[in-house]
Amino acid sequence: MAGLIKTEDVALVKERSSLEDVVREHVTLRSAGPGSLKGLCPFHDEKTPSFNIRPAVGAWHCFGCGEGGDVISFVQKVEHLSFTEAVERLAAKLGMELTYDESTGGRPRGEGIGRRARLIEAHRVAAEFYATALVNLPDARAGRDFLRERGFDRRAAEQFGIGFAPRAGEELSRHLRDKGFTDDEITTGGLAGRGSRGLYDRFRGRLVWPIRDITGDVVGFGARRIFDDDRIEAKYLNTSETPIYKKSQVLYGLDLSKKAISRDRQAVVVEGYTDVMACHLSGIETAVATCGTAFGVEHIKTLRRIMRDEADQAPARVVFTFDGDAAGQKAAMRAFGEDQRWASQSYVAVAASGQDPCELRQSGGEPAVRALIEDAVPMFEFAVRTTVGRFDLHSVEGRVQALRAAAPIVASIRDRSLRPEYTRTVAGWLGVEVEQVSAEVARAGRTAGQHRGRPRQSEVRD
Ligand SMILES: [Zn+2]
Repeated sequence: MAGLIKTEDVALVKERSSLEDVVREHVTLRSAGPGSLKGLCPFHDEKTPSFNIRPAVGAWHCFGCGEGGDVISFVQKVEHLSFTEAVERLAAKLGMELTYDESTGGRPRGEGIGRRARLIEAHRVAAEFYATALVNLPDARAGRDFLRERGFDRRAAEQFGIGFAPRAGEELSRHLRDKGFTDDEITTGGLAGRGSRGLYDRFRGRLVWPIRDITGDVVGFGARRIFDDDRIEAKYLNTSETPIYKKSQVLYGLDLSKKAISRDRQAVVVEGYTDVMACHLSGIETAVATCGTAFGVEHIKTLRRIMRDEADQAPARVVFTFDGDAAGQKAAMRAFGEDQRWASQSYVAVAASGQDPCELRQSGGEPAVRALIEDAVPMFEFAVRTTVGRFDLHSVEGRVQALRAAAPIVASIRDRSLRPEYTRTVAGWLGVEVEQVSAEVARAGRTAGQHRGRPRQSEVRD
């Protein structure tokens, strides 16, 4: 049986940890009267803050879902950890050495207790190993060239911790073993796989970006193909799901951008690691990207908490950048569907040239990247224009089809007071009578109403 942390140590960790600091890593807080702060609850979906903390007492409570407790239970719940793992995580942040009760088995090894802390440490060591390899290994030249060709110098590479995974495929595993990590820890963390001849590194001959969680711990990697003889075709490989890496939640760059996102109440969602870099280096400090998955509901929740995307506030702004190609437009349309879930205003930024932020920074410099974000158009406008663009507006038939396709989008706009204006706008774009658009929108609204059944939460609020 694994050992328990001594009671005195648990008390000490609780006493020394600042609940406010820990909560602020996940939730943007504001004053809620003397001695108390509030924000959007990380444990249930809400638009009005009912999550309260009392820093002096070290207690938190949500009046919405009824959850509550101390700093340890908060870390447990928000990070999905066991009690012991939560205490170990807090102790690590405090730089505190824990003692374990000998009668219950002493200091734990391997699996179970402390596993998360071990996996995080393995990732820290791996990130360091990769970064050193990028600078030192002759083989890494292709990686250094790749970065230079995209306008990233050595300082940029260091700032984002970019590394190189050696080609042979066992260097990292050997290094981690030398540092005392077990084969089990190395494979559980997704850093290596187990083959017939032992461990083989997950990433081989690739340029590697460390992916950090919101608190700045490395929890995974994204790895780009750079050699023609790479046996894996995929341009990008990411860490697969592990106990510390959940791709539906993680946003690349969030550790660097969360302050700016909270301050500006804006988030810029881009498509790739190099786009996040290009944005940050151009002064767009609010840029993040999903890692090998589409922008989804969990990502929305994370951003909303940081932006204080609450019903009684002026709307926060989320800007999506997409490639000008068909896949990018499809992504934008899907995001438009998701957008109905939140109170923020969504915008789409697509460069006229179809370039992504990384390419834009190379061709037009940093001002071009800033202009791209400043010139973003409302998601609605983008959605309608993209839909309408599929039809031939020179023919009557084409205009009728375009109207039928565009009407459901107008009908889906949550804020009903905006619909008349958008109806006029669409009529203008299509070159048809406003009344014709109104009728079609009303029809689309009725049809949607029949299909919808039970209203969604966001619609109840209106
Ligand atoms: Zn709650």
